[in-house]
Amino acid sequence: MTVVFAPPAAVTVPTSDGRDFPVHRIYCVGRNYAEHAIEMGATGREPPFFFMKPADAVLPVADGQTGSMAYPSLTQSLHHEIELVVALGQGGRNVPVERAAELIWGYAIGLDMTRRDLQNEMKKQGRPWCIGKAFDQSAPVGPLHPKAATGELLRGAISLEVNGQRRQSGDLADLIWNVAETIATLSQAWDLAPGDLIYTGTPAGVGAVVPGDTLVGEIAGLGRLQLTIGPARG
Ligand code: MN
Repeated sequence: MTVVFAPPAAVTVPTSDGRDFPVHRIYCVGRNYAEHAIEMGATGREPPFFFMKPADAVLPVADGQTGSMAYPSLTQSLHHEIELVVALGQGGRNVPVERAAELIWGYAIGLDMTRRDLQNEMKKQGRPWCIGKAFDQSAPVGPLHPKAATGELLRGAISLEVNGQRRQSGDLADLIWNVAETIATLSQAWDLAPGDLIYTGTPAGVGAVVPGDTLVGEIAGLGRLQLTIGPARG
């Protein structure tokens, strides 16, 4: 069979044990820490809701390196959202909560970068969020740490500093919908597959960054993710 053009290279994220993890899909959970849900206008516990980013929106940042993200087009308000990223090594459909952790291959620190002004405009108009959430380089991610090494992450500090100032902090134990519940709920709507990444939501304190800013995200047990914001794309 002759292909029309060479298929794009597989999208991969480096692992802490020196391998490459092939990315299938990127699922993201909205409003999954109480204080952040309140700052975004929510009241009370709502069922989890999801959006997606394309797999090639990942921007892998190697261990000990500082990644660089170009300031994206069309926005005046690029927001940071520090998040625990869960990587699936197995798929499933209608996975019960009590078996959901079996699907987890490992974890990473991620940033759900957001063109907040565009997202807010789409929200107001009742239109899809893609332009605000699913743009190129919108998913910086550090190395994936195998669950075999970290154990199941159920609690631990998660934080983000911008230029040395603390902006976001929380604890994984404060997730409104925990990782197992998130996997179970996602698997009712989609066929989960090995290679899926799940951005599990961000604690309170989201805000804007500008070119020249340096972001440092940390999650207990996963080290740190360091990223600078570069000039606007030409
Ligand atoms: Mn998010």
